[in-house]
Amino acid sequence: MYDLIIIGRGLSSLLFLKQYLDMHSDLKVLIIEKSKKIESKYISSWQGPGLLDLTKEYGIQADKAYKKISISNENIAIKKNILPYSYNTYDYKHVIETIFSSLKDSVEIIYDQVVSIKEMYNEVNVKTKKYKFQSQYLISSTSIDQQSVNNKKMLFQYFVGTKIQIKDNHKHDTCQLMHFLQSNNEVLFNYNLPFDQKSVLIETTAFGKKVHFENLEKIHKKSLAVFNIAKIIKREKGIIPMSVNHKFHRTARIINIGLDGGFARPSSGYMLLRAAQWSKINKNTNLKDLVFKEKKLINFLDKIFLKACYYYPDLANSIFIKLFNSNDIASVIRFLADIPTLYDIVKILINTPKKIMINALIK
Ligand SMILES: Cc1cc2nc3c(=O)[nH]c(=O)nc-3n(C[C@H](O)[C@H](O)[C@H](O)COP(=O)(O)OP(=O)(O)OC[C@H]3O[C@@H](n4cnc5c(N)ncnc54)[C@H](O)[C@@H]3O)c2cc1C
Repeated sequence: MYDLIIIGRGLSSLLFLKQYLDMHSDLKVLIIEKSKKIESKYISSWQGPGLLDLTKEYGIQADKAYKKISISNENIAIKKNILPYSYNTYDYKHVIETIFSSLKDSVEIIYDQVVSIKEMYNEVNVKTKKYKFQSQYLISSTSIDQQSVNNKKMLFQYFVGTKIQIKDNHKHDTCQLMHFLQSNNEVLFNYNLPFDQKSVLIETTAFGKKVHFENLEKIHKKSLAVFNIAKIIKREKGIIPMSVNHKFHRTARIINIGLDGGFARPSSGYMLLRAAQWSKINKNTNLKDLVFKEKKLINFLDKIFLKACYYYPDLANSIFIKLFNSNDIASVIRFLADIPTLYDIVKILINTPKKIMINALIK
């Protein structure tokens, strides 16, 4: 019998264990992971004053820390110096390997796929393809058992990315956070992360009511065509649910965490910093009391914003442009990173395009 079984050796599980085992080193923990191979993708996060320092807390190093960001559409280009903040990009595989290697003497791991879980009064029974295990508590970062979002009016963030090596030299000090493309029925933009003079990750992203990868691939191909490509380094692809109804859920003994546990910010899909901050705050919490709570005001603003993207996708880019153009960049970053002051929120609300937001609110 284990004290705790964790399904998934992914981001949220390891961020949690790294903090929790600091305070609960006597726990008998088993990680069950279906795949030895670690997914190849990049994950990014804001860093700076007031935000959890990911290098200090987790020993992970950013592949790139941008001090400038840009946001644009066909008419306007805004470039901002974001110091003392930075926008950091991490190699997911490297993050997982670094945190896992710091934990591997304190946990057991088996590579097998969990096929069912059953909660009993005193324990949880976990069945994999080959074995059966019992534990006092179960933390799951996958949706084997759970909740469906059950929200017809939800959006999906879906994206395809290609890391390319290019023949010409290009500038690599700025992260292109969003360059909006023309689209009537979804929010559509390119997100470009240049790593150095010769390599850049181009990601084409849509916030849509349905997922249309075929169409997105075509647009992505056009976005890649403007570069003089020497080599394709790697590709990535993903879907993230965007809904304030995709909520955290737990029972007496089963705790859902991560993307499937409703940890991602509804309006952006960002999860890394949220999961890291939650893990740090809860390192002393008893497993029976562990919950993930959204900040109410941020959640309310996300709801209005998501409605605006849902009902007025063609106008949504003006909300983003105004957000970055009319506000102090530090306020915007604190807002996006979940630590806005009341002053930040009031300023952001005042500078939000009123007509779109009010219409979205009453829909
Ligand atoms: C391409 C991509 C880019 C992203 N970029 C960002 C970003 O820039 N910033 C950000 O904050 N967020 C980003 N996200 C969102 C989110 O942070 C990541 O998806 C993150 O990996 C989610 O962590 P997790 O713990 O929920 O899931 P994962 O990290 O995916 O971990 C889940 C683990 O569970 C294992 N597993 C699944 N089912 C089973 C089973 N039945 N039995 C055993 N093991 C199982 C999986 O193999 C996996 O290892 C991105 C997502 C994608 C897909």
